[in-house]
Amino acid sequence: MSTVTPSPAASATPSATPSTETRRFEAEVEQVLQLVTHSLYSHKEIFLRELISNASDACDKLRFESIADPSLSAGDSDYHLKIEVDKAARTLTLSDNGIGMTRAEVIDNIGTVARSGTRRFLESLSGDARKDTALIGQFGVGFYSAFVVADKVTLCSRRAGVDAAAAVRWESTGTGEYSIDTFNQAERGTRVTLHLKPEEEEFLEPWRLRSLVAKFSDHIAFPIRMLKEGDGAPEWETVNHAAALWTRPKAELSDADYQGFYKHAAHAYDEPLAWTHNRVEGNQSYTSLLYLPTQAPFDMAFSGREERKGLKLYIRRVFIMDASEQLLPAYLRFVRGVVDSDDLPLNVSREILQENRMVQQIRSGLTKRTLDLLDGLATEQKEKFDTFFKAFGSVLKEGIVEDFGNRERIAKLLRYASTTSTGQDATVSLDDYIARMPEGQDTIWYVTADSYAAAAHSPQLEALKARGIEVLLMFERIDEWVSGHLNEYAGKKLRNVAKGDVALDEAAKKQHEEVEKNAAPLVERIKQLLGDKVRAVKVSARLTESPACLVIDEYEMALHMQKLMRAAGQEVPDQAPVLEINPEHALLKRLAASTDDALATDLALIVLDQARLAEGGQLDDPSAFLRRMNALLG
Ligand code: ADP
Ligand code: MG
Repeated sequence: MSTVTPSPAASATPSATPSTETRRFEAEVEQVLQLVTHSLYSHKEIFLRELISNASDACDKLRFESIADPSLSAGDSDYHLKIEVDKAARTLTLSDNGIGMTRAEVIDNIGTVARSGTRRFLESLSGDARKDTALIGQFGVGFYSAFVVADKVTLCSRRAGVDAAAAVRWESTGTGEYSIDTFNQAERGTRVTLHLKPEEEEFLEPWRLRSLVAKFSDHIAFPIRMLKEGDGAPEWETVNHAAALWTRPKAELSDADYQGFYKHAAHAYDEPLAWTHNRVEGNQSYTSLLYLPTQAPFDMAFSGREERKGLKLYIRRVFIMDASEQLLPAYLRFVRGVVDSDDLPLNVSREILQENRMVQQIRSGLTKRTLDLLDGLATEQKEKFDTFFKAFGSVLKEGIVEDFGNRERIAKLLRYASTTSTGQDATVSLDDYIARMPEGQDTIWYVTADSYAAAAHSPQLEALKARGIEVLLMFERIDEWVSGHLNEYAGKKLRNVAKGDVALDEAAKKQHEEVEKNAAPLVERIKQLLGDKVRAVKVSARLTESPACLVIDEYEMALHMQKLMRAAGQEVPDQAPVLEINPEHALLKRLAASTDDALATDLALIVLDQARLAEGGQLDDPSAFLRRMNALLG
């Protein structure tokens, strides 16, 4: 939303500011303008949708500000938009009686790319022109799309509450410069006049404009008016539905209606993946229309938790504010849409929202709706669910930690790669895993690592693999944190293969004890050779192919987690690891047979360093490791 305080420049008398000035667009605006005018050709009609969307936002803003200061809209609270054409002058004009802009606001909003959407759009541009064209479709560029069909655009605006004499006129041909001057305008609001390019005369045809409104902007809650055609006296006629879309019965709404509304309400340019539209009646009555996007915004993973946007709060049809942060838990921050409450007071503030009990009720209601929607996709539209999970799965995972009450429901929605599935796509659910468990298995096994390859080839899961036991492969940054909170699902324990003892069946246990007994002298020797570099040395029940691996106690922090925490600058107590060895491996057989103490020490150190490397860990002295390896190979 733009700033709402009138700037000193705008409220000053025209003589106090240079009335007319010519300014250059910011360099980035020029880039956007060029791209837009050259590459939006196949969808040039979207300019109308963009301008209507802005005019509607402007009416929303004024209606909101008028709650606190009714004088702002005094004399005219019939918020509406008008579309007019002048065939002789070849102009198309869209006007609104919304909030309007001061001179400073026009400069800020139209002449710069402070807006996050445009910035993001620019940051995502690559040199590849074809890709760039596709990107424009994804982001849209709002106001600038006017230059796709116009070779000159004139915007006249007077902010509500500001003197008629301080209205502002902005004009540009979209090539580097714009002029801005102060003039007198009787009514408040904004008029955008497009001087159409010669080849764009179709946009002077009322039937064409009406059909575009019907197609893209029917859902706008304010009346969009056009002059009735014919020779009679001029008469305005409303050409859209002019009712807030979410207040209309579901049966009346088409997919196209919902899709069009998504783009307007969420300022989004992708297609919505799915939506859920509901009315709740009771001591808390509200309507919600929630969408899942198809694409993750660029900043979702990073700034996403702090600055959340996309869920608009209305109270009795009046737009109040974006309240994603108050109405949804952080792990559902990808949800877009609107909530319209019947019961909250119009003068509600952000602080009140934070604490209000009614708001908490709405919040848990919306959480449930969203999880229901995801459930439905997971069971009925797997492909869509996979698209969702690819884009937002790592965000959803935060819910395991954040939302204890819904932990089981969220866990049901999680997907992982596994030793049974192929490739690194996350497609295996915990339910899939359980359904495949052999008789007698009561544990869901997983491994955590830095990458798919490190997880899939982790020595720690060799024995489980050899016994045909599936292991979930977790290699997203967040998995370590999340898995620490997910100890149980559907009555089954979840366990990290690198932690504690591996449960063995009776026969395997006997065999393991036998190997242990035979290897006791070897274990003792390695312990002596490695000294305090290790906490303990054990014969492994995990390994079949690798010589050794590092393990940790059941309740100790996973090594991978220790690494992440150190990387984040946190103190983690330095503890020597437990080394598990595979006495069947050639390297250890050689160690056992060696009578040369120097060689045996080198071998023991190589075994330890290898185990560290397999873990994705860092060696204290990589060159010493290489020297030893080379000596062994040479
Ligand atoms: P967006 O709508 O995504 O913010 P636009 O390029 O469409 O981006 O518009 C840029 C800004 O210009 C808007 O955020 C708003 O502050 C301002 N603006 C555009 N059109 C109007 C209008 N008709 N009335 C008031 N402000 C407007
Ligand atoms: Mg816009």
